[in-house]
Amino acid sequence: MHSGTYREDYPSGRIQSKPILTVTLTTLSLSGEKKMPASKGKSSSAAAAATVGSATRGKDPFKRILVTGGAGFLGAHLCRRLVGEGHEVICVDNFFTSSRHNIADLLEHPNFELVRHDVTEPFVCEVDQIYNLACPASPVHYQFNPVKTLKTSVLGAHNLLGLAKRTGARILQASTSEVYGDPDRSPQTESYWGNVNPIGVRSCYDEGKRCAETLFFDYHRQNGVDIRVVRIFNTYGPGMHPYDGRVVSNFIMQALNNEDITIYGEGQQTRSFCFVDDLIDSMVAMMNQEEDVGPINTGNPNEFTILELAETVIRLTGSKSKIVKLPLPADDPKQRKPDITKARKILKWEPKIQLEEGLAKTIQYFKDLDLRRYKKPTPHNALANTEKIQKEKNGNMMDDEEEGVDKVATSTKKRGAEKEATSAKKSARRA
Ligand code: NAD
Ligand code: UDP
Repeated sequence: MHSGTYREDYPSGRIQSKPILTVTLTTLSLSGEKKMPASKGKSSSAAAAATVGSATRGKDPFKRILVTGGAGFLGAHLCRRLVGEGHEVICVDNFFTSSRHNIADLLEHPNFELVRHDVTEPFVCEVDQIYNLACPASPVHYQFNPVKTLKTSVLGAHNLLGLAKRTGARILQASTSEVYGDPDRSPQTESYWGNVNPIGVRSCYDEGKRCAETLFFDYHRQNGVDIRVVRIFNTYGPGMHPYDGRVVSNFIMQALNNEDITIYGEGQQTRSFCFVDDLIDSMVAMMNQEEDVGPINTGNPNEFTILELAETVIRLTGSKSKIVKLPLPADDPKQRKPDITKARKILKWEPKIQLEEGLAKTIQYFKDLDLRRYKKPTPHNALANTEKIQKEKNGNMMDDEEEGVDKVATSTKKRGAEKEATSAKKSARRA
């Protein structure tokens, strides 16, 4: 793990008229240097209007944009796109699942600024737009520290909505298909309320993202904050972390090394995989349209079983890997396929890159990757948790208790040994 740790109840979706907010015209930047807000070189009142007014938004082509989680897989692609379009980008990240390397090509760019910051704490800056991506996305990563995952989604959304409220910035939430949980219908439309376990091993992510959506819509209704919400379905492509445990990265890494391809369960569960370039197009289109606040599904509606994905990866890599079956992690959704009617209509968007073409690009990326830059895999908590839950279900609590006693005994023994070692060191120093 990196960096030490690694409905129909929604409003109609139509954009509500937004009150013009008052903003401070000059503010201190993080470095303490005095800066004008986003619309540099304009008179104060013009700058304020361009910064806050939805009426004026769109007239100034270059914006100051905050991307949280900007060093991550999707964030790095998004930052690159926005800088490429001439915008000023502030990337905020705590590097929980990423590193500066992911955005090394942007670090010297005059329009790019990187800030190490945790979104569970408030962040102060002046911006026109905010993309909120900060949150681990792979089950292995978000289950590593579930309480932190929940805080990142909920407190992060709260802090950034506060920032959007003060500055009048438009704010987009990177929500997820996980808000549908283990859906009992397919494809999933935005009006479906989902089937989510509130107390399971995936809940820190699913419920965190659901609560973040609630906060977004309440800030919109209560404070007129200019929100956009996209529900992203499984996305893959160059830039993925080789050890993040997601299915595409796992299968490609395993295939390239001729290792066993690990299918969880029977491999009959489905996912719909969207290539990253298509996904970024949809996010930018969502941010810059005036018609609908969301939520809008973004993803590729072509659905594959996990077994089909494994077979395709083996074929495209020419690998000698064998398929092996491992236990299915708890609450693993059985099917996932977005209905993208709304995205087609509102965003005039649909994915262009289909699975084989996208996989070929991703395979090439993994072949070229310098693996020395990445830390080794994190133990798969999802599997460990599932095995524990299954044991409990089978009434094997005794085994668990015994194991628990063993663990306590082991850790007590370990602490004793550590104490002894420390006092031996102290005596040695005294001597
Ligand atoms: P990622 O793990 O690669 O990136 C997340 C980034 O957020 C990382 O750089 C991480 O260091 C940062 N981060 C995590 N906690 C933070 C905190 N407390 N403060 C600041 N930064 C923090 O994941 P990704 O695939 O790039 O996903 C980005 C966003 O898109 C996430 O919000 C995720 O929920 C959402 N999403 C992604 C997918 C997908 O398939 N990739 C699908 C649905 C939703
Ligand atoms: N999966 C698998 N083998 C792996 C990794 C994942 O069979 O090595 C399965 C996982 O159980 C799930 C699907 O692939 O059914 C997608 O998993 P991923 O972690 O990529 O994302 P999810 O859609 O579950 O959030």
